Amino acid sequence: MLTRSELPENRVALPVADTAGQHLVTAERVRGGHIRIQCTCAAHMSEGWCRHQIELLCLRYDAVTERDSEAEFHFEDVVMGTPLADIADEVDLALADYDAALKAFEARRPAGLDAGRLRQVADLATDLAQAANHLDGALARFKKRLASGRV
Ligand SMILES: [Zn+2]
Repeated sequence: MLTRSELPENRVALPVADTAGQHLVTAERVRGGHIRIQCTCAAHMSEGWCRHQIELLCLRYDAVTERDSEAEFHFEDVVMGTPLADIADEVDLALADYDAALKAFEARRPAGLDAGRLRQVADLATDLAQAANHLDGALARFKKRLASGRV
């Protein structure tokens, strides 16, 4: 027996756009309180997750092309307070840390092999490695949680 929140008509679709074009993110609650959230973009197809999902799960609608408060309310009703949304927040922070560490490495990496400069490269590389490890772990948990919403 399905409860009301598990019925298929709870599916909500949000159109998003980026430099690669138009995509459609869909979300619905499925059995066991899991969320099925998909996107039509190439990154989602190849990696099994995408930044569109993370943005929306963090309730940021900047990429949505046709703003519709009813659809957004519906989306929030589906995803808010779920473990998937919690992990998306974690991925979001890890992505920001990784982007910042990568930028810092590229911008501040000194040329030259003297001890001071090598120390600086090592420090920047350590920060980048820690950010990459943290992001890798958060993404693995996110993808595992996404997979639990697939039937
Ligand atoms: Zn996407």
